[in-house]
Amino acid sequence: MHVGRDDRIAEVLILGAGPAGLVLGNILQGAGIDSVILERGSRAHIEQRARAGFLAPESVAVLGEYGLDGGLRTRGRTHDSCEFRTAAGRFELSYGGLGRREVHTVYPQQDLVTDLVAEYLRRGGELRCETTALRLGDLHGDRPWVLSRTLEGVENPLGASYVAGCDGARGLARKTFAAPSSTCEYDITWLALLVQAPPTTDTVVYGVHRDGFAGQMPRGPEVTRYYLQCDPHDDPLHWSEQRIWNSLATRLDAGRYGSLRAGPIFERGLVRLRSEILDPIQQGRLFLAGDAASSISPSAAKGANLAILGARSLARALIAALRGGDTTALQRYSAECVPRIRRAHEFSHWMINLLHPPAGPNHAFERDMQQARLHSLATSRTHQDFFAENYVGI
Ligand SMILES: Cc1cc2nc3c(=O)[nH]c(=O)nc-3n(C[C@H](O)[C@H](O)[C@H](O)COP(=O)(O)OP(=O)(O)OC[C@H]3O[C@@H](n4cnc5c(N)ncnc54)[C@H](O)[C@@H]3O)c2cc1C
Repeated sequence: MHVGRDDRIAEVLILGAGPAGLVLGNILQGAGIDSVILERGSRAHIEQRARAGFLAPESVAVLGEYGLDGGLRTRGRTHDSCEFRTAAGRFELSYGGLGRREVHTVYPQQDLVTDLVAEYLRRGGELRCETTALRLGDLHGDRPWVLSRTLEGVENPLGASYVAGCDGARGLARKTFAAPSSTCEYDITWLALLVQAPPTTDTVVYGVHRDGFAGQMPRGPEVTRYYLQCDPHDDPLHWSEQRIWNSLATRLDAGRYGSLRAGPIFERGLVRLRSEILDPIQQGRLFLAGDAASSISPSAAKGANLAILGARSLARALIAALRGGDTTALQRYSAECVPRIRRAHEFSHWMINLLHPPAGPNHAFERDMQQARLHSLATSRTHQDFFAENYVGI
């Protein structure tokens, strides 16, 4: 290792090139604010990492407002209904006609990241890939700094007026941050699969089954994401293809509602359901956005959407401070974002309880409550409107 010399001082130093960091960087560059993004992974890695897919209308509007929606306007697909399959039967909720009559746009996260990287570079942003942020300092002074290390082992200190921690739930910013937080450990794990095959139906399907949850999420005409609740200690590689397809078929009741369209499983991993809310999400000149500010389980597809909206709030506040000398919005950043984050968590928590077999000493009673909730959702327009508004909105 040797220490390099980097005299570069950015107006905003952004840790992480996920949706939060890239949306922030793009808006700042568009406003003429100089930024640098440090990203641990390679450009190819971040442009291929498949994760989210469902974008809320507010996220789509933000991307449109700042000229970041070229790809999703041409290749994104509208999605407006989901289906629940339970022991009592199936029902579909066409949420595009319920609540605020809003729909999702399905656009794979890796495609969005690819678009955002290209646009960030076009706007003159500096993206340093394969560069890991190691340490943060002087967060309460005028010139905070970040020490980073390249793959070759060169360590560089970099100064900035402000630092944005957009480096995810396990990044440096979150680790550095000593803020009060509330957490929920669900003791629920999903085997997350990507399959090269079209979905059986063009809707999201939630299988609520006594063996565990199963879900089908369309990602495009030829790719489908499946989730299977599994043992937290499972090794994803120990699930044979046959066991995976049998479990999906059982829990999604494929015998009754149509066989699954099997295809090669090209990605598998474990997702442990865990939620954490921080308050505040700013300390001195460090501001968190996206998963760094709040890790949320993917049960209601809110993470990428919170990342985009948080990045927009932070960008506006930074522009007001750096261009107008007005730090009011920066001081209010947590107060603006945390209520939105809490609302998303509340619905996500509700969805988790709706979808998974209850455990613990009261599991029989909880199962009755779950059935009552599902029944209300199937039959009550008021419940359906509530669901639609929260499912699509953020
Ligand atoms: C299987 C799965 C499915 C999901 N489905 C959905 C969905 O349908 N809808 C939805 O809204 N959300 C979904 N999510 C959640 C969503 O993907 C995340 O919430 C989103 O990626 C958060 O964006 P971010 O920019 O905050 O963080 P990230 O995308 O995690 O980006 C953080 C970046 O920081 C980098 N980094 C980390 N540490 C450092 C360091 N020390 N130095 C430099 N760089 C660093 C990482 O390499 C990474 O590129 C899903 C998540 C998973 C895992």
